[in-house]
Amino acid sequence: MSGIFEVRWHGRGGQGVVTASRILAVAAFNEGFVGVQSIPWIGAERRGAQIEAYNRISRTPILLHSQVYAPDAVIVVDPSIISEDNNAVVRGLKSGGFLVINTARSNIISSLRVPEGCSVYLVDATSICLELDLQVAGLEVLAMPMLGAFAKATSLVSLKSLEESITSSFEAELAKKNVDAVVKAYESTRKAHLMPEQYVPPVPPSKPIRIPEIHHWTDLPPVPVSTPSKGSIGNTGDWRTRKPVIDKEKCNKCLFCWMYCPEATINIDDSGFPQIDYNYCKGCEVCFNECPRKAISMVVEEK
Ligand code: SF4
Ligand code: SF4
Repeated sequence: MSGIFEVRWHGRGGQGVVTASRILAVAAFNEGFVGVQSIPWIGAERRGAQIEAYNRISRTPILLHSQVYAPDAVIVVDPSIISEDNNAVVRGLKSGGFLVINTARSNIISSLRVPEGCSVYLVDATSICLELDLQVAGLEVLAMPMLGAFAKATSLVSLKSLEESITSSFEAELAKKNVDAVVKAYESTRKAHLMPEQYVPPVPPSKPIRIPEIHHWTDLPPVPVSTPSKGSIGNTGDWRTRKPVIDKEKCNKCLFCWMYCPEATINIDDSGFPQIDYNYCKGCEVCFNECPRKAISMVVEEK
């Protein structure tokens, strides 16, 4: 796999979508992918309301932080969502992508409309949850078996990595039940063979909401930001054991460091370079970790 593999989950509040998305991110990391993200999108905060979640999986670090608009795979945890609005579920799904659906209902399968070139995989996650009594507060945790179906469809993560991720997330008995559900789903997931007329032109992605368009930090609207000042126990700079040092040869003035510094101790000099105020920099290393150009090194304090 090259580039970023993007996943969009569709489910309802209480079905474990956000948890499963997080477990997938950890499993992908266990698998050796260094760039992984799990992003929940929750509208009405209530059980039963439609929610989405997103994953990004990459061999290299990911600098994009947004919803997923053109997924490589869509996972439909609750089949009623695709019956309600087929296009909303496949919007933006890339040709050659994967649609993984929890259903055993022939009427849903026969009414599917799928972008040309996509593969459809089906699993009866509902029956698996009922059989294993995999429920939380009376609702089947349908998203959990979908992890096994996703693994089978895409071969992106192994059962072993999923098992490790689940085992590190739940206590032993619950972990076993979740692992069993994932394995059962993996084994029973099958590729659907649709009729030619069920393949349709790709549905365009929904437009990201941008208010306003921001291409550079200078486009940001002015907001009041408090400036650091001396506290009753001195300057936060006194806490530091290692200090960040910027290499201007490598720095491209992207100002990620300025944006991420939790202490607002990075200013911008007249040439547009970041400039650290060492009176207040506490040496937390956030800038060091976020700099995409590796232009910041952490140097041991001599004091
Ligand atoms: S994040 Fe790195 S490259 Fe970007 S402005 Fe800061 S030091 Fe320079
Ligand atoms: S080390 Fe932490 S406090 Fe210091 S400049 Fe970097 S982000 Fe800010």
